[in-house]
Amino acid sequence: MTTESLPSTARSEALFARARAVTPGGVNSPVRAFRSVGGTPRFIREAHGAHLTDADGTRYLDYIGSWGPMILGHDHPAVREAIASALTGGTSFGAPNEREVQLAETVTRITGVDRVRFVNSGTEATMSALRLARGFTGRKYILKFRGNYHGHADGLLVEAGSGLMTNAAGALGQAAPSSAGVPQEYAALTLVSEYNDPAALDTLMAERGHEVAAVIFEPVVGNAGVLIPTPEFLAALHRVREHGVLLIADEVMTGFRLSLKGATGLLGLTPDLTCWGKIIGGGLPVGAYGGRADVMDFVSPQGPVYQAGTLSGNPLAMAAGLATLEILEGDPGLYGRLEAYTGTLADGLRSAAREAGVILSVNHIGSMLTAFHQDAPDGSIRTYADAARSDTAAFAGWFQHMLGRGIYWAPSQFESIFVSGAHTDHDLNATLDAARAAYAGLGG
Ligand code: PLP
Repeated sequence: MTTESLPSTARSEALFARARAVTPGGVNSPVRAFRSVGGTPRFIREAHGAHLTDADGTRYLDYIGSWGPMILGHDHPAVREAIASALTGGTSFGAPNEREVQLAETVTRITGVDRVRFVNSGTEATMSALRLARGFTGRKYILKFRGNYHGHADGLLVEAGSGLMTNAAGALGQAAPSSAGVPQEYAALTLVSEYNDPAALDTLMAERGHEVAAVIFEPVVGNAGVLIPTPEFLAALHRVREHGVLLIADEVMTGFRLSLKGATGLLGLTPDLTCWGKIIGGGLPVGAYGGRADVMDFVSPQGPVYQAGTLSGNPLAMAAGLATLEILEGDPGLYGRLEAYTGTLADGLRSAAREAGVILSVNHIGSMLTAFHQDAPDGSIRTYADAARSDTAAFAGWFQHMLGRGIYWAPSQFESIFVSGAHTDHDLNATLDAARAAYAGLGG
């Protein structure tokens, strides 16, 4: 493809320059800045179905889905109508409303938790769940896994994944904490173990389990690229309870995505607490945490663990979440269709890469997929260290080729892409055509 045939990015460039003058790095969340792939981040004007349109009028097939929430595609008519109908009644009350009861009833019915508390983001959900675990157990340590990302609360920015795997402040191999501004004393309360290493978890638990309030984990990792847990690791996770430790599943990304009951439902895990975000808000800012009644009743005002929010249970956000979950519940075939699309995409990427002599290792589950640019057998990438061996320069080159062909992939090697119900067979073929050309560009 010649430079002449590439769509203009003039308006995005101008907006990025204005944004950099008034916002750190020009963005409100780091990965959006395209630092690890280079080039100008596209400023998005609008999104419908599986497509984004940028400020220059260029249309892209979207595989980010706002980093997960848009499982039904953008601007789904039923979600739009639910938000519009809520809007006519006012946007925030600071008092209880019926929609938050309905969404709580829906979430408890679908997932089987006893109680749920709504917050405004995934970060708030994990942060609050950990405070609750500490309050409930009276212990101060928590344990997380290297390369798992649970939002940006201080104690969780330790050996974290997602943007911290590619941004300067959290370069690979850096010891904990992974962000400036997190005191060593906070980080010292976070123990870190290796994902998919049951022996390491058992050993750490045997030594320190009696001091640990909670083990928090991504039941399927999306934030180091997709990593799928082994049955042995899942068994070790269940064993942490023998030490009086609470098990917290961070389903912010996987909840309602990998199945209606999330990754834990799919994998047969029974955590004590679960965190949600993304899909539960249908594209509006919502997070939630929930679990067993005896633990959740420690939350204020029922119990002594304080947690509050001016906009929590916001009527527009509750309406968007309710409409989304209703559609997911009413379309049981959707998850199978998403999985079939993603499986065909994985096979197509592998063969397109092979034809061009490019080496690739693809992990995928449900509607999540990462194509790691490295020479490893498919499915063998299981840990942060495995993922980190990927050729990020090759990925960046491939990403740019794809973007130039109208396919908007996640702009980092260490992220999952997300397939939505709005992606069609036509989109799948277009993606694979672009991928063939992009790999040929890389190979040549
Ligand atoms: N937990 C997981 C597993 C996530 O993927 C994310 C965000 O990507 C978060 C927590 C934080 O959610 P939020 O960005 O809504 O604060």
